[in-house]
Amino acid sequence: MNKVIQCPCGYVIRADTEEALVEQAQQHARETHQMELTAEQALAMAQPE
Ligand SMILES: [Zn+2]
Repeated sequence: MNKVIQCPCGYVIRADTEEALVEQAQQHARETHQMELTAEQALAMAQPE
């Protein structure tokens, strides 16, 4: 099942595994928001698509 994270900035992250989703969310947070996101925080924002 796909999961999606909608960042408050409007950026949408989609992946078919939690691992990939967390990785992409962390990369986005780091590059765009200069923020370190934990896997827990990323998964708390994830919604099933
Ligand atoms: Zn963002």
